[in-house]
Amino acid sequence: MPEGDTIYRAATVLRRALAGRVVTGFDVVAPKITLAASQRRIVGGTVKSVESNGKHLMITFKTDGEDVVLHTHMRMTGMWHVYRPGERWWFKPSDARVVITTDEYVAPCQTPPVVELMTARELALHPVVPELGPDVIADGFDVVEALRRLQAAPERDIATALLDQRTVSGIGNEIKNETLFLSRVWPWTRVADLDDDSLRHVLDVARDLLRRNREGGPRRTRFALDRRQLVWVQERTGKPCYECGAPIAWGNHPGEFRRSYYCPGCQRQVERSVLSPLG
Ligand SMILES: [Zn+2]
Repeated sequence: MPEGDTIYRAATVLRRALAGRVVTGFDVVAPKITLAASQRRIVGGTVKSVESNGKHLMITFKTDGEDVVLHTHMRMTGMWHVYRPGERWWFKPSDARVVITTDEYVAPCQTPPVVELMTARELALHPVVPELGPDVIADGFDVVEALRRLQAAPERDIATALLDQRTVSGIGNEIKNETLFLSRVWPWTRVADLDDDSLRHVLDVARDLLRRNREGGPRRTRFALDRRQLVWVQERTGKPCYECGAPIAWGNHPGEFRRSYYCPGCQRQVERSVLSPLG
């Protein structure tokens, strides 16, 4: 499932293939998009930049008018591919929703749930993209701002907070679950019950996992010798914890369809600290 690491990698590959190149073809087959004018302008323009923020990917085209931005978001499915012209694709061409063509490379996007084309000015008014929290995988990750956004909603549980892309951007469910296991934090712990150092540690672990996975291959959060044992808790319900042997469990969060997998032995519920009035 695409998380921030997957999209970061896709952006890197697309940037290498496309940045600075002249666009010779631009085709979009997306139900909700009408873009005849922008589409015409993109052909003959150049690819100015390819950027990711969390799970969002933005390709900016320099045209003879305003810059035009293609925004894609993969949710559970969908992926960008890069091929040489004439090379056989790894998926059905009828599943392509966007195809960017240059003389050197062809970049189709397979079944992205979100495809939007807009000007740079329209992007600033977008309902989601400008609201994204600091990108956990980015070189310049702003941990102070991430802490501020986490602590702005202290009553939320940490698992729900980490998945909220307006709080921090790029963490999906698997990285969230593995991060909380490695941090030894019970997923239903309120943000208010974690001090600054604990929250920073959680963010550090998530960042480390995302960055270790940005080069590709199956996602790993466990770096043991046995390469079949890639993760600690994700979808390991009932199997013994690699640390303590307790069976891995799962549970839900209010209003959230994504489950938390956790080890009841390693990630214990901490009693809420009670301030003594006598101090
Ligand atoms: Zn355990």
